[in-house]
Order: sequence, then C-alpha cells, then structure tokens
Amino acid sequence: QIMTQMNDGHRLFLQSFMSRGILNAKEVKQLFKICCLKYKIPHPENEREAQAPLLEFVRTINNHIEPFHMQIRKGVSEDDGSSSYGLVCTSESTITKLASDYTPSELEFFKKLIEIIVASDNAEVGSTETLNLVSRLENVKKLSKDDAEDLLSRLETNKWIKMTHGKISLATRSLLELDQYILEIYQDDVEKCNICKKLCLKGQTCPSCGTKLHFHCASKLFEKEENPKCPKQGCKKAWPYEIRRTPRKGEYFLKRLFTQELQRRVKKERQTYDMSVFADWRIM
Ligand SMILES: [Zn+2]
Ligand SMILES: [Zn+2]
Repeated sequence: QIMTQMNDGHRLFLQSFMSRGILNAKEVKQLFKICCLKYKIPHPENEREAQAPLLEFVRTINNHIEPFHMQIRKGVSEDDGSSSYGLVCTSESTITKLASDYTPSELEFFKKLIEIIVASDNAEVGSTETLNLVSRLENVKKLSKDDAEDLLSRLETNKWIKMTHGKISLATRSLLELDQYILEIYQDDVEKCNICKKLCLKGQTCPSCGTKLHFHCASKLFEKEENPKCPKQGCKKAWPYEIRRTPRKGEYFLKRLFTQELQRRVKKERQTYDMSVFADWRIM
C-alpha cells in the first residue's frame, strides 16, 4: 500500500495541533476547512460529507507521525461525553512528557494534584486543599502559593485541568494523554469503565461489585432500559442511579425552537394584557 504524502494542508493541521494541544470536534472541523481552503485542497462543503475526507486526512497525518511515536487521538469528556482530539506522545507513559512546558517543581505539584484527585470521591478537589500541596513537595525547588495559583491557571489554559465552582478536576486532555501514567501509578485505586474500557475517574459505581461506568456510557447503555442492571457478568444487580440523558444533536435545536416559541407567547400575552388595559380605559 502506497502511503499518501503529507502536503502543506496536513502540515498546517499538524502545526495547529502542536501549538494548541487539544481541540474539540467543532474546532477540528473548522481547522480542516481552513487548511483545505488555504492550500486549495478540494473538500465537500457539507459537514456530513466532509467527515470521511477529514478522517482520511487525519489518517494520513497519523501514518507519517507514528514512527515518531506521535498520534492524533480522540478523547471523551467524563463530564458531558463530548469528544476532543489531541496530539499524543505514545512512547512515554510518564508525566515528564510535559517537561518542555513546566518546571520540575511544577510537574511534581501536578503529580501530587493528580494523586489527591484520584483519591477523592468524585475525582475533584477543592482549591484550598490543592494550594496546600505546596508544603508536600519533596526534592524539588519549593513553590509559593502564588506560584501554585499561577500554575493552576496555566494548567487550565492548556486544558489539563478544569476548574468549576472552586473545584478542580482533570480535563479531557489529561485523560487522553496521562491515562497510561495514572493506570500505572494508581493501578489499585482506579478503574476502567466497563463499557468503553478507558480510565474512568468520574462516573457511577455498582455498590455490589464496584463496576464503574462513565456517565455518558451509562446513558448510552441504559437509554431504553426500564430497570437498568449492572452490566458485569455474574453481578446484574439493579443499577441504583439516575441516568443522565445525553441530548442528541436535534434536541439542542428543539430546545432553541421551544425557547423562541415561549418568548413569542410571553410577548403575545403581554400584548393581550396591554390591550385589555387599553380596552378598560375606553370603557371608562
Ligand atoms: Zn466509558
Ligand atoms: Zn455490579
């Protein structure tokens, strides 16, 4: 089989991945379009028809970068099941692959942060607890709490962590690039999801056998199930959690439509109301 050569479009695509680290599905589609337009590569306008050429485009890049132990890979958010794509180094499973962007002290801090996130109940920790990690750094130059705060905001900007309502958790990029590291170091403390077989930090756990499912994997599995049961062979106990429904693409559209309709009705009602007041005056 003859390997397709990389052209300037492929190279621009790859460069963007190198500088941005991780892109969501929408950004990947946009980037593909930009690369095609810039180098006059024929591509379908229609997004659905552009799927296959996009996959082929990424496959060509992956064929060329795999000898260098790099790969563009898909990762899934544990919060909402959305997909992101990252440029992953496949040869190293350690966290030191981030060494070009962070100092040894910062990497040590990030390791400790991962440690407390993995040990926590919902795979998220508070910011105070996190900042206190500066006192636990060993064999590296100390960090102040200000340094740590600055580091946290850089980790967030580079999409390694997520900070919501004062809680810190690992973002899709960490799951995509540091899963091997986490599975190796914390093999006794972490589980893989029974459905997608990937590392699962946030999710639902069977109280009987400990089987774990991502929220989005549980949603898919139990979508049409009246009485959800643990998927593990030999367990099959009732699944005692509420199943989050994953909205389909069309539903966002429907929701928007309903909101518009609702606004229209409110407006109409207000008009009716105003009219009636006016009518009252006329009677008077
Ligand atoms: Zn899963
Ligand atoms: Zn079970």
